[in-house]
Amino acid sequence: MATQHDAGSYDPQAVETRWRARWQERGTNRVAVATAPRPYYNLMMFPYPSAEGLHVGNVFAFVGTDIHGRYRRLRGHDVFEPIGFDAFGIHSENYALKVNTHPSQLIPRNIARFREQLRRVGLMVSWEHEVSTTDPAYYRWTQWIFLQLYQAGLAYKKAAPVNWCPECKTVLANEQVINGYCERHPETLVTQRVLEQWFFAIAKYAQRLLDNLETLDWSDSTRTAQRNWIGRSEGAELRFETPIGEPIVVFTTRPDTVFGATWVVLAPEHPLVERLTADERRPAVNAYRRQAQDMDLVTRKVGAKEKTGVFLGAYARNPATGESVPIWIADYVLMEYGTGAIMAVPGHDERDHEFAQTFGLPIVRVVEPTGAAGGALPYTPWEGTLVNSGRFDGMTCAEAAPAITRWLEGRGLATGRVQYRLHDWCISRQRYWGPPIPIIYCDRCGIVPVPERDLPVVLPPLENYRPDESGVSPLARLESWYRVPCPACGAAARRETDVSDTFLDSAWYFLRYPSTEFDDRPFDADLTRRWLPVTSYIGGNEHAVLHLMYARFVTMVLHDLGHLGFDEPFARFRAHGTIVKDGAKMSKSRGNVVVPDEYIAQWGADTFRMYLMFLGPYQEGGDFRDEGISGIRRFLDRVWGLMTDVSPDAAIPEAARRKLHQTIRKVGADIEELRYNTGIAAMMEYVNLLRREGQEGQEGQKRGAEGQREGPSVARELVEPLILLLAPFAPHFAEECWERLGHERSVFEASWPAFDPELARDAEIELVVQVNGKVRGRLLVSPGLAEPEAVAQARADETVRKFIGDKQIRKAIYVPDRLVNLVV
Ligand SMILES: [Zn+2]
Ligand SMILES: [Zn+2]
Repeated sequence: MATQHDAGSYDPQAVETRWRARWQERGTNRVAVATAPRPYYNLMMFPYPSAEGLHVGNVFAFVGTDIHGRYRRLRGHDVFEPIGFDAFGIHSENYALKVNTHPSQLIPRNIARFREQLRRVGLMVSWEHEVSTTDPAYYRWTQWIFLQLYQAGLAYKKAAPVNWCPECKTVLANEQVINGYCERHPETLVTQRVLEQWFFAIAKYAQRLLDNLETLDWSDSTRTAQRNWIGRSEGAELRFETPIGEPIVVFTTRPDTVFGATWVVLAPEHPLVERLTADERRPAVNAYRRQAQDMDLVTRKVGAKEKTGVFLGAYARNPATGESVPIWIADYVLMEYGTGAIMAVPGHDERDHEFAQTFGLPIVRVVEPTGAAGGALPYTPWEGTLVNSGRFDGMTCAEAAPAITRWLEGRGLATGRVQYRLHDWCISRQRYWGPPIPIIYCDRCGIVPVPERDLPVVLPPLENYRPDESGVSPLARLESWYRVPCPACGAAARRETDVSDTFLDSAWYFLRYPSTEFDDRPFDADLTRRWLPVTSYIGGNEHAVLHLMYARFVTMVLHDLGHLGFDEPFARFRAHGTIVKDGAKMSKSRGNVVVPDEYIAQWGADTFRMYLMFLGPYQEGGDFRDEGISGIRRFLDRVWGLMTDVSPDAAIPEAARRKLHQTIRKVGADIEELRYNTGIAAMMEYVNLLRREGQEGQEGQKRGAEGQREGPSVARELVEPLILLLAPFAPHFAEECWERLGHERSVFEASWPAFDPELARDAEIELVVQVNGKVRGRLLVSPGLAEPEAVAQARADETVRKFIGDKQIRKAIYVPDRLVNLVV
């Protein structure tokens, strides 16, 4: 193969077509999964193959992951970078309904299109390990996982009030309800329905899911989102005795305020309401309960402006004071949270205080702000001293909470409790496009799991798969399919007709990738040991409490059942940012959607990749503006031009050598931390310097063979490492340059360049730090520090910290290499 080419100008289409073909021919992206000595599992979130094709958000996510993977490979790892398609689910089904094409025809077409687009982007994907969740060879094992949970007692069926989206015509997980609205239908209020559903007992794992977070190398924002979603609160269940002999149990995180509880409130659906209601109050109570039933969830959860409620005409006994307190029902108390009952402490709770004022109920102060008697009520902070609380007067809230709990426990009136916001995962969907839940109902045997040897339960073809209002899956229309003999006794029985939640499909796909060659097991033990847990996972934070929580849960269960040797699937997770267009989120209605194909066709994949990464810090995202892309292209053109001027015996100016080592150091460190934008900026600076040095130092130097252009020559030693630094960002381009430098093997078989720390050391400059415009400190930093680092270093400085105290930083003004002003 010729290594000398006509220099010409950079033609991205030609270069990219050529290298895509060659990668395929040479198997450049293949990994020997069974034997790779230095495995590095570089995972990206597999896409849902929409009919619109690859979204620029997908490309942004994948390219950022790919750069990381290619870099790791250059550092000597065997990088496994698989991809697949999350192709079941309501998104796909809804779209199929809209365009009136069966999903079984639509989805393969979408996948083919995605695959083509993904290839164009130049990802280092191991295509031979592709998975699709709709493939029976895949969902056989999704069903197998359901059975594992069922056999472990972690999958159960119960009738429960569930979230029902009238648009989706199916139930939703709590995680799919955003402030009372459907995640997919932001205009549609989710209602409540009582349906028989399958649940996974994820709540049993709440504490472990929380504790393990501390051990994970994850983005803080993602860990915080999970922590909040798990929602651990410590407190106590308190018993308020009633005349019917059964107590009202309330959960409170503030047992220290029980002396101030002047009434209790039950959810209108609470089972004790019926028996507690006094005869003369019955008409009012029943009317209120009917009204609450018709209300949508958002109003009930967020709470209407006007507090409403009805007195039952009955009283309960405050366990601390022994006094009788009235029992009310009110719609803001929900049966599904806690015990469906609360104690009202109007002196120290906003909502209870409003309620007391509306209905003229007594307000008692039981906490004084520390060191300041009196003050307005309600007083809600945890910092304070108890009053009007008998023997507990004078204690701080923090001391009183456990003391009061213990005291009431001694009298059988309390139990210390930890409560979680995380509820069991409802996985039934009354839809068609998903894996059937592998369960059979027999009149004699009850619930019978489908035997493993009978898996997969294949999703049957069904012409009319449109969901309806009935709350029953479309599969219930196919009698020939759901009527089956009972696997246990042979009697006539029927299949479960619900399918499982798409999030079950994606809760284990990363376990499947290395093992796609095996049909007889979901994941091979040896391969799993070699490749998992996933070394690095990069994806969107919108999945923080959905996919990422479910994947952790399923991994924990499989670990506990002896199928996996680890209980956390993702050692490292980084959340990437989002791309907006002209300051707004991309959406069809705004008409600001960027279609990647057009940009790739015009500019080439490499320019597009680099441009996306240059928009802003990868973990924050950026604003897509058409103007910027030509700057990246110009940069690649300049590097292309340098190639023509490479000479083995050109002089190496000292400044260029120093800059090279600094650039190697910086680009490596930036890629490690996913600061791709500043890495690109460093390479640009370096190329500018090479150009300048070249012109100044070697003006007029004659070079090259006859007939070729004459120009300043650049030492090969200064260019070769640059091509390696560029390779993760612009892989096709780098391959072409590498070949032009005379290499026969892929640039990705070379090694990341080393730098000399002595040469790479920057001169330090003084950065002035101001707080609210006043000089408060000086820092010695490397020149050209990026803003986030400059601000971080300023904040970390001892003296500066004193002036910030615990105040919030509202704004930071940064003048590079001069000053940082923190506005607090
Ligand atoms: Zn919906
Ligand atoms: Zn049976």
